[in-house]
Amino acid sequence: MDSVIPPRAEVAALVPYDVPPPEVPVVLSANESPYNLPEPVLARARDITDTLAFNRYPDPTARALRRAIGARFGLAADDVIVGNGGDELLQYLMLAYGGPGRLTLSFPPTFSMYAIEAEITATPLFEMERDAEDFHVPVEEASTALGAGDYSIVLVCTPNNPTGTATRRADIERLLEASDALVLVDEAYAEFDGQTVADLVSRHANLMVLRTFSKAFSMAGLRVGFALGQPSTLAPLAKVRLPYNADAFSQAVALAALEHAELFEARWAETRAERDRLAAALASKSNTIVYPSSANFLCVRVRDDEALAAALAAAGVLVRDLGGSPLMAGCVRVTVGSPQENDVLIAAWPG
Ligand code: PMP
Repeated sequence: MDSVIPPRAEVAALVPYDVPPPEVPVVLSANESPYNLPEPVLARARDITDTLAFNRYPDPTARALRRAIGARFGLAADDVIVGNGGDELLQYLMLAYGGPGRLTLSFPPTFSMYAIEAEITATPLFEMERDAEDFHVPVEEASTALGAGDYSIVLVCTPNNPTGTATRRADIERLLEASDALVLVDEAYAEFDGQTVADLVSRHANLMVLRTFSKAFSMAGLRVGFALGQPSTLAPLAKVRLPYNADAFSQAVALAALEHAELFEARWAETRAERDRLAAALASKSNTIVYPSSANFLCVRVRDDEALAAALAAAGVLVRDLGGSPLMAGCVRVTVGSPQENDVLIAAWPG
């Protein structure tokens, strides 16, 4: 046969998420940690490489890692599911709780993967826009819609990527009480905020909290994310999960990272301080609005986002131009880097 049938219509319309590896000295485009794993964790990673049985399948349920994650949040191993990055768990969530006819609510501008996963899983998505001035979630309107409507999933990102906006705990509680829809609170950046609703898991069967090792734990290269929820809430995700989705090496290194959590905590404090310094420096440039951020990045509105991104790239600094999205016209997102990287950004920023 010299032809093949087209894929499903939802898939045909998608564009693959292939971001080319950046080739500039200062990469502030992907909200990663500026630092590799701390030396004691790297040393453990080397030991793991020497002793791991690479010929054997990993523990499919990642029990040791789930126990350690649970302990960190005052939860049990059964309140935790581990994924190949948080992105994989988002897809499992949509596969298990979404699908045709299973209406999902999200609050754009927000993490782009929500709409992509809805598309892939043929899940209808209703997008209720955040406030145009300060990007807060319209909680009043959302709880009314949830109470009256027939929603299956609510996606709340806090701090929100790409705006940095935190959603207050009381507002999340309102959404949890408004209906029995599964509320996914995406806390990928929560360590830079210091707030979490993980402690509400035991009280709300419809709460799931998503976390990742990619940002605060300097492990974007290994792909480890996890979700917290009551065992009966997580059970459907375990049913759609691929066997051995979390590889043995990544499970072991994530465990080692948790055993040295204090080394990362010092870095989060530095990131928060640098975020405030960077925000003040960029706010003092001409024609910028720097939105308040609770994450390890800043969303900045400028006069011409494309020209700014090009000027920074010419100076060797890569930022994320958000201007392609209608709700983010004129905006760029910059990751908070090391103090030296932030100095380079500030110097290269025109005005
Ligand atoms: N949620 C949000 C809001 C994110 O920004 C990201 C990473 N870009 C993720 C989840 C998923 O992260 P990962 O797959 O690296 O764990």
